[in-house]
Amino acid sequence: MCEMECFADFHALDIYPIPLPAPSRGSDRWLLYSPLAGSAVLADRQDLNLLAEQLKDQGRLDEGQLQSMLIENRVIPQFGYARTPYDVYALTILPNNICNFSCNYCYAAAGHGKEQLDEQTIRTVLDFFVDPARLKRRDLYISFGGGGEPFLSWELVKFSVDYSAELAAKYGFTIGYSFASNGSVISCEIIDTIKKYGIKPNISFDILEEVQNLQRGNYNTVCRTLDILLEENIIPTINTVITPACVGLQEKMVEAVHNRFPKVRRLSFDSVVNGELFDNSGDLAAFYDTYIENFFRARKLGKQYGIEVSCIKYHNLEILKSRACAGGFDLTPQGTLSMCFFVSSPKEPLYERFIYGKVEDGGIKFDSDKFGELINYRTERNERCEHCFLKWHCGGGCLFHSETYSDEMHGVMCGFLRKFSTMALLERFEIE
Ligand code: SF4
Ligand code: SF4
Repeated sequence: MCEMECFADFHALDIYPIPLPAPSRGSDRWLLYSPLAGSAVLADRQDLNLLAEQLKDQGRLDEGQLQSMLIENRVIPQFGYARTPYDVYALTILPNNICNFSCNYCYAAAGHGKEQLDEQTIRTVLDFFVDPARLKRRDLYISFGGGGEPFLSWELVKFSVDYSAELAAKYGFTIGYSFASNGSVISCEIIDTIKKYGIKPNISFDILEEVQNLQRGNYNTVCRTLDILLEENIIPTINTVITPACVGLQEKMVEAVHNRFPKVRRLSFDSVVNGELFDNSGDLAAFYDTYIENFFRARKLGKQYGIEVSCIKYHNLEILKSRACAGGFDLTPQGTLSMCFFVSSPKEPLYERFIYGKVEDGGIKFDSDKFGELINYRTERNERCEHCFLKWHCGGGCLFHSETYSDEMHGVMCGFLRKFSTMALLERFEIE
């Protein structure tokens, strides 16, 4: 049987044969992955052909255990995605575009300036967001990020948390909070607020002194903040941006955290999103290969120390999605609403493309058609997703990436995601 014919029988059931890397794992070994059943089995070419023939002839597999593992246990998920801005349940507040750092990979650098939100704009958005007449679900999520460094506008963050919590108590909502900070601003009031509301802390930090000072600066300042947080038993996730300058140092970073900040339990090692750092697709592909190799080594070392080393791509494998973005509701320092927090300033080239609403005259004006067009972009494109084993995890990739990477770079990125995810699946299903 030819390959396409063979695979079509699997694909029709949302089962994906994934070739495993050779020769270290032996030649012609495949992972037969059923994302909707959350299971996988190893197979060789002969097994694949046999199973495909069974599917073709009788629409099921002979072996009962395989039939239930791969086929009968499949669950088609119900996705509660926002279809209009009136359905959103996660809000990101970017209080300002002011930053006291100048990181060399900063995706927001072009938009930095002196703008910040005001309380009235935040109040208007929260009155809309925490409104029992707007939506049925009662669990909401608010995060603070940048744009700039959110805690440089601490009074606005504090106001947002206090006011939204007041509304939540009044109308019977629960709200989960988180923030991403560069770790330069800390105070007793910040600590008390984090504790009072159980806010999930994320500190962006490149861990090794030489790397932090090369890419972000301010090593000693961030160490001091981490020490204070940990002393208060507030345990942040450390978000580290993996660039070509530190891609080979991921194990060393785990070691450094274990020694210097032993209470930290979670590291997120995401690869840099700034496509301009790479001259061509070959450089990008080489970077990704090195990233994968070192990421999984660091993850293994982390396990020995009780530190989870993860990243967004890894986390995506744990959830099912039919589209990449749940629908961004991201309040920019200008009082506009963006589909993506990566785009928040009129100085950025994608600003007009991503903005679909604005706080005006005490209310919010939405362009709901534009919101629909932005969240549905995937359905118009990307035929290659149809038979990709990541279809249910990646959701076709995000709009920001598709707008910032060339087609060629995007192809490299898909190749990387598949390679990375294959390694992650082997780890998850404990396949050597
Ligand atoms: S701290 Fe964040 S916003 Fe500030 S320069 Fe660095 S990456 Fe950009
Ligand atoms: S990895 Fe690429 S081809 Fe696969 S689902 Fe994602 S965007 Fe589509």
